[in-house]
Amino acid sequence: MARIAFIGLGNMGGGMAANLAKAGHDVRAFDLSEESLTRAVEAGCTRAASAAEAVTGAEAVVTMLPAGKHVAGVYEADVFPNAAPGTLLLDCSTIDVATARANIEAATAKGLVAVDAPVSGGIAAANAGTLTFMVGGTDEGFARAEPILAKMGKAVIHAGDAGAGQGAKICNNMLLGASMIATCETLALAQKLGLDPQKFFDIASVSSGQCWSLTSYAPLPGVGPTTPADNDYKGGFAAALMLKDLRLAMEAAASVKAEVPMGSKARELYEAFVAADEGGHDFSAIIKTLQN
Ligand code: NAD
Repeated sequence: MARIAFIGLGNMGGGMAANLAKAGHDVRAFDLSEESLTRAVEAGCTRAASAAEAVTGAEAVVTMLPAGKHVAGVYEADVFPNAAPGTLLLDCSTIDVATARANIEAATAKGLVAVDAPVSGGIAAANAGTLTFMVGGTDEGFARAEPILAKMGKAVIHAGDAGAGQGAKICNNMLLGASMIATCETLALAQKLGLDPQKFFDIASVSSGQCWSLTSYAPLPGVGPTTPADNDYKGGFAAALMLKDLRLAMEAAASVKAEVPMGSKARELYEAFVAADEGGHDFSAIIKTLQN
């Protein structure tokens, strides 16, 4: 079992670090929040006084931080000066493709092996160890990262070269954002046309309109399987995080001059939804704005 530094023990990182410790790894944990750090220690991790201390002597460094600037900052200040040559860096945060690539390039120049490994799945999947990891990096990086990530997830997929994990993540979430809005406006229309929503769900779920946002994540209470809609849109995947991912997708699309009219509209609608102080609700709650 390896000594692993884990930096960023928030909603997602807390459960992920706990699963690595449960699997027998020696997890040296650090977070700026004392509360998160205490929770990680209770879950079997060893407290590090700083990110630099966590990294010193570690064979692998996992980061689960809010955005690209946090990861780049921690890499520059704490990881690069303290990681031994050959140390494996796994960044599981959702960050922009350009920063992910730059981080991996900088790490490689320092003799380290780095991958981007963002996740699909929310807090419940992080706690349960059932995340999906999309990995960008070399074959060597993937081969070394896979057994570590497998302790935190149900699927670990090599998406391609550096940055491909982040590319896959934002493409997936752009599709999800757009399909959720399409599902919501469709259900709202069906209701206005006098259809019983459950009846429409039963029909569309076995017809050509079927999609995950409808069949597995129906945004109306009492329709389809139990979803955040049945819990007043609490829990699940926050609209603010969907907006973050849609902004990253628009940034990436602009960088390669891709036409993304549906993704762009989804971004616009989630911007308005979050500006209306709804960012803490599940992203499916956007149906409320489409029912009026
Ligand atoms: P979070 O805000 O709960 O956790 C981030 C943690 O990083 C916090 O505990 C914070 O104190 C810590 N931190 C920030 N800067 C630090 C630094 N310099 N050194 C040490 N610790 C630092 O966020 P989260 O929900 O756990 O999300 C983490 C990442 O995972 C994000 O990139 C997010 O987009 C992505 N993600 C989240 C979800 C979700 O459902 N929450 C799902 C998929 C992906």
